[in-house]
Amino acid sequence: MLVILQSGANQEVVDHVVERIERLGLRAHISQGEFRTIIGAIGEENAAFYDQIRTIEGVENVVSIMKPYKLASRDFQPHDSQVKVGNVTIGAGAFASIAGPCAVEDKQSCMEIARAVKASGANMLRGGAFKPRTSPYSFQGLGEEGLKILRDCADEFDLPFVTEITDPRNVELVSKYADMLQVGARNMQNFVLLSEIGKIRMPVLLKRGASNTVKDWLMSAEYILSEGNSNVVLCERGSQGFENEMRFTLDVGAVALAKRDSHLPVIVDPSHAAGRRDLVMSLALAGIAVGADGLIVEVHNCPDKAKCDGPQALTPKMYEKLMQQVKALVEIIKQNQVLQETD
Ligand code: PEP
Ligand code: MN
Repeated sequence: MLVILQSGANQEVVDHVVERIERLGLRAHISQGEFRTIIGAIGEENAAFYDQIRTIEGVENVVSIMKPYKLASRDFQPHDSQVKVGNVTIGAGAFASIAGPCAVEDKQSCMEIARAVKASGANMLRGGAFKPRTSPYSFQGLGEEGLKILRDCADEFDLPFVTEITDPRNVELVSKYADMLQVGARNMQNFVLLSEIGKIRMPVLLKRGASNTVKDWLMSAEYILSEGNSNVVLCERGSQGFENEMRFTLDVGAVALAKRDSHLPVIVDPSHAAGRRDLVMSLALAGIAVGADGLIVEVHNCPDKAKCDGPQALTPKMYEKLMQQVKALVEIIKQNQVLQETD
């Protein structure tokens, strides 16, 4: 439930309400607005709680959040969230252009790719050091060595980087190097991993599982948020469809739905959805048109030799062309928003 305090309620009132909420076995999340304070009381609710909280002095109203996810919902926070990753901001009008190899293979190629994507306008680098592969015999990533390479490339080109974490035991290791942790589609419901990541304050990119609903996705975000980490960015990367010429089906409806029901930024991964480079541009633009706050795209300097996901990797030249289109479309959308606001 949401506990809305009277405007001008002082710290004493806030502390008292928090104490009463905690005595009911719920967790209090304070949201300090410009005019009033709202306290989210999160946990297993009971109808009797409403009256107990509503009658506290200084409380204006108590409203139930009907959705199963609470902190992730727009009922809890109506305005769009922004997540900061190093010097990059994602959400509420700030667009993330994340690009890089599927997996880091060696320092030279990673540097080359980072240089190229930066020159085309990327503001973040991606790259896997711990790869979740379907086959145990496929390249699994360079592990810590890959993280070191990513750090060097990120620092060289002033691009914060995101990398996947597959194991809760690696939270300390990966967060020592990375600027943002990625939870991959296969781990979207690895609840131990989500809770561990929730206990730190590092930004998280939470990909939607290929067979999960938007509700499942937001419940997974709730695991991270409820532990106290509010730096969550959602990523749509395609769901399991019946079309076999694409790896997955980019679900643009899910982007619109997630943005309607949640305040969290949502970005799109057209690379894993398409599974083939000739469709990446179209899907990327579709994602932006439907309201995505950014893109994460796989780029390789020599896709034919890539150890992972070569068929979907763009060449640096293709990425340059993509970014020209992206910039133009983002600009049109921004102008349109300004027009709507002044109407
Ligand atoms: C990736 O980003 O490299 C990746 C494995 O993505 P997904 O979890 O979406 O398959
Ligand atoms: Mn990949």
